[in-house]
Amino acid sequence: MSNVTIDRVRCIETAPAGIRLVIVKVETNQAGLYGLGCATFTQRPKTAVQAVEHYLDPFLRGRNVNEIEDIYWSSQMSSYWRNGPVLNNALSGVDMALWDIKGKRAGMPVCELLGGKCRMSAATYVHASGAEPAEVVDKARGFMEQGYRHIRMQVEVPGQATYGTSSDLQVERSIDGPMSPHNIFEPADYVRLAPRLFEYARRELGDEIELLHDVHERVPPPLAIELAKSLEPYRLFFYEDPLPPEEIGYFDLLRRHSSIPIAMGELFNNPNEFLPLVKDRLIDFIRLHLSQVGGISPAKKIASLCEFFGVRTAWHGPGDTSPIGHAANLALDLCCQNFGIQEFTAFNQATLDVFPGCPRVCDGSLWPNDQPGLGIDIDEELAAEFPFPDHPYNGAWPAIRRRDGSIVRP
Ligand SMILES: [Mg+2]
Repeated sequence: MSNVTIDRVRCIETAPAGIRLVIVKVETNQAGLYGLGCATFTQRPKTAVQAVEHYLDPFLRGRNVNEIEDIYWSSQMSSYWRNGPVLNNALSGVDMALWDIKGKRAGMPVCELLGGKCRMSAATYVHASGAEPAEVVDKARGFMEQGYRHIRMQVEVPGQATYGTSSDLQVERSIDGPMSPHNIFEPADYVRLAPRLFEYARRELGDEIELLHDVHERVPPPLAIELAKSLEPYRLFFYEDPLPPEEIGYFDLLRRHSSIPIAMGELFNNPNEFLPLVKDRLIDFIRLHLSQVGGISPAKKIASLCEFFGVRTAWHGPGDTSPIGHAANLALDLCCQNFGIQEFTAFNQATLDVFPGCPRVCDGSLWPNDQPGLGIDIDEELAAEFPFPDHPYNGAWPAIRRRDGSIVRP
């Protein structure tokens, strides 16, 4: 194979669904050959762009595109301080793009380079939320009619900023500024209410549909254990992020108290953070955001580690995962024996137009297009028609607070 080298690494910013996406394009010395990756850190998107264009671009120009593993390690070590979300997202953009290039050169989809397909499609779960249990269940019925078999459910605590519902994420300027009642969240109120949603949902929807719930690390450990026990009768597919990364010492206690399947890990930066929870079999699914851990290369290694301990994959796939990131998720879903489920947020028409080749949804599963590389492209002219929207913090989340004004972890 001829010596193909990196000419330039640059970013494309776009927001076709109103969410800030950062795409990395790795251009090569071979005319028309390039790769695309996702570096979307939507709460701090401009920092990822700076890291790509001011550090990785000059560092990687002239490197052989074949050397994915060495580029991953040399890029990590060149900053000395490693494994933060900004640098991991920047590096992920490059890592995914290099796998895309390797696939295009080989004439194969990326999943074939990683061992080959062991399933045809990837089952997904989608989000149903609302102000009342009846509204959540109505939305779930709509998804079931479209063929989805796994649904995450979140219901609003009346008058509070409840994660995963439309009451969340109101803008707030400071602790001394005007506090909106919608910025308030009381963990105990939420822990009392959430089981009533699932009691109602099981009664209305029956036993066959798989139901999921995300705590989003918002409650103290004793309440997370209490909620796990309260939700057990409703047979959840998984109970997500019951505890924040700072409290992983409590997972052993949670495991002893409840048989509920646990998903964890979307906030982890360093691949080594998974090790204690996986080796002691304290979780059942890894929630991992591919660009947050540095791309396809580290994610595949973590998935292989998990395979030995009976832990399954559940790659993070909300609206702030770009379609390039979804294509990378799907490449791994198809070739990892221990695939569990894929989170998915439907693409709007503008997104489908900006990213030709988006994975297709059919009967609640994602299907690949089997094109070489990641099988997806970007229309840069059209992408430029969707600049980042105005926002007081440029995409960052406002604070959620207890009634006394103190911060709640997101
Ligand atoms: Mg989550």
